[in-house]
Amino acid sequence: MKTKREIKFSIFLKLIILIIIFTVLVNVSIGFILRRSFDRAHMRPPASHMIKMQQYILDDIGNPPDTVKADQILKDVKFDIRFETSTSKYTSNKDLPTIEELKSERDFDDTEKSIMIRSARKFYRVIKLDDGYVIFAQPSPIDEIDIESVIFPLVIIFSILAFLLYISLRWIFGPIKKLSEGVEKISSGDLESKIDVKGNDELENLAASINEMSVNISGMLKAKETLLIDVSHELRSPLTRIKLANEFVEEEKIKKNIREDVIEMESMISGMLETYRAENTGRKPDLKKTDIVLLLKNVISKFSYDKIHFQSKFDKRELLIDPEKIEIALRNIIDNAVKYSEGKPVEISISGNEKNKNETVIAVKDHGRGIEQEEIYKIFEPFYRVDKSRDKKISGYGLGLSIVRKILDLHKAKTEIYSKPGEGTEFRITFIK
Ligand code: ATP
Ligand code: MG
Repeated sequence: MKTKREIKFSIFLKLIILIIIFTVLVNVSIGFILRRSFDRAHMRPPASHMIKMQQYILDDIGNPPDTVKADQILKDVKFDIRFETSTSKYTSNKDLPTIEELKSERDFDDTEKSIMIRSARKFYRVIKLDDGYVIFAQPSPIDEIDIESVIFPLVIIFSILAFLLYISLRWIFGPIKKLSEGVEKISSGDLESKIDVKGNDELENLAASINEMSVNISGMLKAKETLLIDVSHELRSPLTRIKLANEFVEEEKIKKNIREDVIEMESMISGMLETYRAENTGRKPDLKKTDIVLLLKNVISKFSYDKIHFQSKFDKRELLIDPEKIEIALRNIIDNAVKYSEGKPVEISISGNEKNKNETVIAVKDHGRGIEQEEIYKIFEPFYRVDKSRDKKISGYGLGLSIVRKILDLHKAKTEIYSKPGEGTEFRITFIK
């Protein structure tokens, strides 16, 4: 039974906290940098003082304005000014717009004494004199900000924040990599492997569920195997009784048929029990120096199929193996080659490796139906048969190769399969001395 684990820090909570922290950091850093830049920018008096200052300047210059005085005053005060009267025209900066230009932005008449006008993204104050106008450029602190001094630190801070964000996201989603590796291992048949993910979040929960699932599947498979084995075992006694009773059947033909059926059933049962034993007689192989050439010849001799061609590069080749288990593995591989070769020849060979003298390669090649690419990794799963309806005609339980894999894994032997549907299959087993 699955118990639902409590999640302390949901991934969504983590993400929300992360988003809040980074929003605050981004805002604080932008605020801090802009503030610093404003501080550095030329300090400007507030708007109310500005009007007063402009009035003082105007009083000093006189009415009508005195251009010489204006030059003197504006040297000390950082204001730009233009005035136009019927008698004089003056501007401290030739870029300042004329009264006509400002009027084109916003029309005004003589009744207005002081007008604010925005032109070309700058502000100007127009003050009406008795005989003409004076224009003050309204200084803006933004004009004074050095854009580079803002952009450069912002780029650095954003890069640091982006890096921190990357690290945090990796920390939150890092376990996904472990999860996918773990799931891959489990799906490749290693039901014992466990996924270790910590984090008190949904991913840890998911890992725990997957672990639980693989334990359950492995339990179910074991139960299925045990049932199969128990049933096979129990079938032996009634079979023996049938055999005995058959002796009393008088009609020879019926007697013969029953005997043949019983023999077939017995061989199926002993095959199943044997595979079970191969799997369960201890995890450790009982290693002995064994002549693999002799062992393989021996296995082949037990097949009544007359199209097995055997070839060996060696007369004798000693390997440290568990002979009983390797015999079972080889018998299963050859049995498949014969079963699925559709009457065509089966080639079996023992060879070495030119590059690595320690290696011994056993190849079993048939020219039968072959296996589809996507089925190849599945055929090692217990009870897996490629085409169940077609395979019904050929006896088997899909157990052979699962045993083969276990035995070869115990020997740390490498297994390769090359197969093309319709052309045949080659099993290559490499033993390292
Ligand atoms: P069992 O070995 O338990 O009697 P089986 O032969 O069906 O039954 P495995 O030996 O595990 O089971 O093989 C699994 C499946 O792989 C087979 O059912 C068959 O579909 C496929 N297979 C194995 N060897 C070959 C081969 N040489 N050519 C084509 N298909 C093969
Ligand atoms: Mg088989």
